[in-house]
This record gives sequence, structure tokens and C-alpha cells, in this order.
Amino acid sequence: MTAIERSRVRRPGHRRTHQQTGFRPRLSPEGILTLIGVGAASVIALWWQDTESVVGLDGWLTNAGRITGLLAGYATAILLLLVARVPVLEREVGADRLARWHAMGGRYVVSLALAHTLLIIWGYSVTARTGVVSQTVTLVFDYPEMIKGTLGFLIFLGIGVVSARAARRRMRYETWYYLHLCTYLAVFLAFSHQLALGADFVAQPLARTAWYALYIGVGALLVWYRFLTPIRRSLRHRPQVAQITRESPGVVSVYVTGHQLDELGAEPGQFFRWRFLAPGLWWTANPYSLSAPVLPGQMRITVKEAGGHSRALATLRPGTRIWFEGPYGAFTQARRRSRKALLLGAGVGITPLRALFETMPGELTLIYRARRPEDLALRGELDAIAAARGTAVHYVTDQPARHAVPLTAEALRRMVPDLAAHDVYLCGPPGMTATALPALREAGVPRRRIHHESFEL
Ligand SMILES: Cc1cc2nc3c(=O)[nH]c(=O)nc-3n(C[C@H](O)[C@H](O)[C@H](O)COP(=O)(O)OP(=O)(O)OC[C@H]3O[C@@H](n4cnc5c(N)ncnc54)[C@H](O)[C@@H]3O)c2cc1C
Repeated sequence: MTAIERSRVRRPGHRRTHQQTGFRPRLSPEGILTLIGVGAASVIALWWQDTESVVGLDGWLTNAGRITGLLAGYATAILLLLVARVPVLEREVGADRLARWHAMGGRYVVSLALAHTLLIIWGYSVTARTGVVSQTVTLVFDYPEMIKGTLGFLIFLGIGVVSARAARRRMRYETWYYLHLCTYLAVFLAFSHQLALGADFVAQPLARTAWYALYIGVGALLVWYRFLTPIRRSLRHRPQVAQITRESPGVVSVYVTGHQLDELGAEPGQFFRWRFLAPGLWWTANPYSLSAPVLPGQMRITVKEAGGHSRALATLRPGTRIWFEGPYGAFTQARRRSRKALLLGAGVGITPLRALFETMPGELTLIYRARRPEDLALRGELDAIAAARGTAVHYVTDQPARHAVPLTAEALRRMVPDLAAHDVYLCGPPGMTATALPALREAGVPRRRIHHESFEL
């Protein structure tokens, strides 16, 4: 263990962080979903209030088109809100769940926008007694703001296609990410046709104002939290690389120095997005968890080679400037419901658990799985923390095969006899978590007490 590391191993629970002392609004993920649902119900109520009767096939089609259009517009604003990196959402819902909601919401938006387009074209062509093709041409070229609206819709469709799982797997993460940013252009293009043509907004100035407020509010949150806050924080805290140390084959720790880093309020278990201002790394900001609690002048991440970005970190020079975004993530002590906790990690998934292991109060057990003994990164530190806390660490490796322990309910219960009474913090590769989740459930751990951090967004 280095001198830097030794200074960190301290008794848990004695330090109140900036975030623990300040006021923090609390909202459960279910509460947030309920609020989103109430918003959607209000949108339907707006249509209901403006509609006296629905008559004939064209009436049904056009009104179904209006509802799907209104809902698509509302869902688009919510989709952007979910990725605006609003602290209360990041903390209470967690980045991985927000990413899942965003992906699911994206499917709703594309389906609703497609249904809206088809229903309106069909409804208008029945009313005008024209063919669908000539009605489409009329709608696109003769109605105000419709050329922009059509372009926005086509961009949405394109993004929907590249985001489909099969297409995304074949694409570099960065390519997908930059294509995905075209969503902002699509939203901008599609916005004005909603107000120019939406019967509900033409008839009701109040609804129009509320729609503007929704979009301007979400836009302001995006600009503030995604762009201005990271710039302000990076300028204020001036983070830069202090030192790189090798932890195990293919794994390095990056020590970061800066000005009053503890005032960022980062909690063990959280992560930042890191943009290293070094050749080839300027254009990507990748997420890495803190692998130790933050000190006033120091932070640390521990990274395993997975591709270009993570591999390049081993070659960073001390003094390299960093821009960061964060702290993010809900994988913290705040999630905990019982006094006992099991930290169950595998591979580089040990990083957030290492930080939690040092700081979490109460009775802890750590199980750390790796392929080979030499892959157990940060082992010296974990042993030192375990000794300081008087707690147990179980190292499990697949090799040599005679020492391998399967990840089953029975094996877990052997290591942690009263497992059902624990909260479990789980972080590891997708295959390991897919095995661990049913094993934990079988061992009697309720779903609400299993807290999972995924390294896949
Ligand atoms: C919340 C979170 C915390 C993480 N913490 C750690 C950690 O402490 N240590 C560690 O070694 N790894 C961590 N990861 C994983 C790490 O971010 C990726 O392995 C790394 O970004 C891969 O980038 P690459 O260019 O080296 O590899 P690539 O070959 O470019 O990417 C490999 C895979 O990593 C994912 N990925 C790549 N870039 C990003 C990005 N900008 N955002 C999200 N996912 C991306 C994609 O699924 C991609 O398919 C974390 C991931 C997340 C989401």
C-alpha cells in the first residue's frame, strides 16, 4: 500500500460529508414515475377539454392523431429531462436506471410520433377525400412549419433505428453517442409545428404557455447541468492527473489532485464522467467510479482496459488537465435499509465497493471474485481496511479450479450465514450479475435490498 493510500484507511462513519449536512430533496423512483404519469394524464385532459365530440372515421383518426401527437411532444420533453443530469434524479433514481427509462421512453416517442404522423395523414385524407400520397404532399409543403416538423420526425426515426440494440452493438460507442446528439436538432425542428398546428395550443393560450414553460424549463436544466455546471466545477476545482499506479494486469489507478475536491460532495459509490485533456482523449468523457473516498486534495479512479479510452489512461502524464462531470449515481450508503451489508463484486466492479468498504458504517462483509489471484486489484488496501474494521473479506478466484466457488445461493450462505438480513451492494460484469441476482433472491434477500451498479449505460 502506498503512503497516499494508507492515509485513507480510516474508521468508517466518522465523517459527515457536505451532502449529508445540506438539505436534499427526496423522491423515490416510483414517486418520479407517478409524477411523469400525472403529466401524461394532464396532457390527455387538455385534449378532452378541447374536444366537444368525435364524429365519423375522420374524426376518430384525427383525434387519435392529436392525442398521440400531444403525448409524443410531452414524452420528448421527459426524455430530455431524464438525461439532463439533474442531481435529484441522478441521486434518487441512479444513472443506469435513468438510462433504461430513457431508452424505453425513446421507443415510446418514436412509436407515438409514427402513429401521430400516420393517423393525421389518414384522417385528413378521409376528410378531404384525397389519396394518402397527395395528402402527405399537401401536409408537408402547404401547412406552416411542417417541412421542419417532417425533418425532425425523420431524424427521430433515424436515431430510433441506430439505437435499436442490434444496430448499436455493431457501432462504436462514440459514433452512436454523437449520432444520438442529433436528437436536440430533431426536437428543435419538431417544436414549432406543435404550436403552429396543434388545435389545443391554437385555442388555449394557457396551454401554449405551459408547453413553452415545459420545453424552456427542460432546456434550461440541460444547459445548466450538462454544460455549465461541469465547466464551472472543472474551472473551480482544477483537477489534474497526479500519478498513475498499476494495480493488476490491465488495471491502473489514476490519482487526481485538485482544489477543495471534497466540496464536490461526492459520496463513496458514485462516479464521474472524465474527460482527460490529452491527445486522442479530448473528445470522450467516460464514466469511472471513485475507488476511494474523496480527500480535500485527492480523488482516485481505478480502471480496467476495455478499449481505446481505458487503455490510454495508463499512459497519462502527471499534470494532464481534466474536465469532469459529476458526482452521479445512486449506489451509495443512502440506499441502505439494514445494519448489515454484503458488498459483492467481481473484476473491476470492485472499484465503487472499495470506496464503500472503507466508509460504510455497520457490519460489512466483502466478497470479491476474479479470474486469477493476480487479477485481484487493490487487495492490499482491502486487507488493511478489513483489519481496521475487524471485518471479513472473501476472495474467490476461478483459477486454480480446485479453489473455485460457484456463485450460488448455497455458496453465498456459507460465506454469509444470515445473508437474508443483509443489504447487498452488487457490481460486476453483466454475466456475473445475471448469475448473482437469482442466487441472492434464492438466498432470501428481498429485491428492494439488492442495490446494483451497472457499468453499461
Ligand atoms: C456508472 C459507470 C461506472 C463505471 N466505473 C468504472 C470503473 O470504476 N472502472 C472501470 O474500469 N470501468 C468503469 N466503467 C466502465 C467504463 O466506463 C468503460 O469500460 C469504458 O468507458 C470503456 O471505454 P473504452 O473506450 O475503453 O472502450 P470501448 O471499447 O470504447 O467501450 C467498451 C464498452 O464500454 C461502454 N462505454 C464506452 N464508452 C462509454 C461512455 N462514454 N459511457 C458509457 N459507457 C461507455 C460501452 O458499453 C462500450 O461498448 C463504468 C461504467 C459506468 C457506466
